[in-house]
Amino acid sequence: MTLSVASLGSGSRGNAFLVESNDARLLIDAGFSGAQLARRLDLLDVHPESIDLVVVTHEHRDHTSGIGVGARRWGWTLAMNRATRHACDPLLRGEERTRELPPEGLRVGSLEIDPVATCHDAADPVAIVVRHVPSGLRVGIATDLGRATVPVRQALKSCSFLVLEANHDERLLREGPYPWGVKQRIGGSRGHLSNRLAAQLAREVAHSGLGGILLAHLSSECNDPEMAVDRVAEGLMPTRWEGVLASAVQEEPTERFRVDELVGAGRNGPQLSLFD
Ligand SMILES: [Zn+2]
Ligand SMILES: [Zn+2]
Repeated sequence: MTLSVASLGSGSRGNAFLVESNDARLLIDAGFSGAQLARRLDLLDVHPESIDLVVVTHEHRDHTSGIGVGARRWGWTLAMNRATRHACDPLLRGEERTRELPPEGLRVGSLEIDPVATCHDAADPVAIVVRHVPSGLRVGIATDLGRATVPVRQALKSCSFLVLEANHDERLLREGPYPWGVKQRIGGSRGHLSNRLAAQLAREVAHSGLGGILLAHLSSECNDPEMAVDRVAEGLMPTRWEGVLASAVQEEPTERFRVDELVGAGRNGPQLSLFD
């Protein structure tokens, strides 16, 4: 059994995450050009045609700019809720295969895909929890969170691996180059989660069965990967959580994080020590 997660790239200029099991391959968002999607998938040894389903979390271009071309060029099926489908009209020509992502979720092979409503300035934005049915392992993908609502926090608590937004450092945003209105939007309750709030959320949802956290959607102006990881690691200190903490970047894919192995490593540690 395998369950893995990789970022193809993440930030305000494009987001896409690959979730794979033995029998299913999903993309969560496809916010890059066709050429970039092909290049990044190739780096991970994935043929674009082998993607079973592309789940679209919301209509913002950094999550959707490649969905139309991908659907037309590689036959991708796009899954999204009705409001997002409507908001994506300008990106689609009507010939693409789409499928409704209902509130109760849908299933592809061994993977069950559940949407969780988020607070963000889009038509009907969602975070996604992908459950590997045979093992019960769960991957949570939560970016573009203005604030972490109760349903989001609940959903993330049971995850075995998290892709979590750490968008900006609050001071850098305050002092940075954006106009006042943009700063208000980014830092507001329907904008993006700061490092401080990501640290708070990580502390709340971390548990011994959480194998790793991949920080994502980092602002290139008001954050950097090291700062985000440091801040969240600091927040996690009191929990004594020992999983993998890493950060996705805009320009390149990450490695594949093997969720089954990361969780197994934590689980087997104490058992092995019995035989030492
Ligand atoms: Zn957005
Ligand atoms: Zn975004």
